Amino acid sequence: NNEKTGRRRVLLKLSGEAFGAGQLGVNPDVVGQIAREIAEAVDRVEIAIVVGGGNFFRGAELSQRGMDRGRADYMGMLGTVMNALALQDFLEQAGAATRVQSAISMTQVAEPYIPRRAERHMEKGRVVIFGAGAGLPYFSTDTVAAQRALEIKADEVLVAKNGVDAVYTADPKIDPTAERIDAITYGEALQRGLKVVDSTAFSLCMDNGIDMRVFGMEPRGNVTRALLGDSIGTLVSV
Ligand code: UDP
Repeated sequence: NNEKTGRRRVLLKLSGEAFGAGQLGVNPDVVGQIAREIAEAVDRVEIAIVVGGGNFFRGAELSQRGMDRGRADYMGMLGTVMNALALQDFLEQAGAATRVQSAISMTQVAEPYIPRRAERHMEKGRVVIFGAGAGLPYFSTDTVAAQRALEIKADEVLVAKNGVDAVYTADPKIDPTAERIDAITYGEALQRGLKVVDSTAFSLCMDNGIDMRVFGMEPRGNVTRALLGDSIGTLVSV
């Protein structure tokens, strides 16, 4: 827990795919619902959020179709900033105080990423949303979630998934024999090549001894539950 406030501190990763509800762009109903679930927990837990951008662009996909990978990745990162602003808007409508920090400087729309300031915001009860990933091509927002969690000294990384409710032995959408896992070590997840979260994110968490919980955004209320420390989904640990 945070030394000054005694509260639990978590880093929540939200996939961009969820924001678009399977389509390009932002679905206000979905983002509004996610925001209300986050706002529900805000007075009991310190919350920082990393948002993905898969509802806009994925650099790897654009580069497969002929774009330069670095430039395509920057487009991906800019997409995450749009998601961060959408989430900020709905969080404030739900009564939560927020700040957006971007890893790519764009001072009119977001603060720069300053980890110590982010911690201060959380101590004051503000939700901090990190946009633009790490500001680095070839990274994913899962990896950024692990890195930010470590840097702001979060107790846990919470990875909210769209369309899957936990870690499985294989992709349950493809393999009908896939079994649900309640708890697994990072080593085993890596060894089995489980792709539900990036391997880079798994290894960063493993090397630095932070727990990760992978859970589904559905049913309604799950995001609040995870923020408050309920044992839903799968616990991944050292
Ligand atoms: N991205 C990047 N560096 C980062 C974070 C993101 O280059 O530090 C780019 C990358 O192209 C990625 C895209 O932004 O595909 C969107 O992020 P991600 O695919 O992780 O979003 P999600 O799958 O969570 O929606």
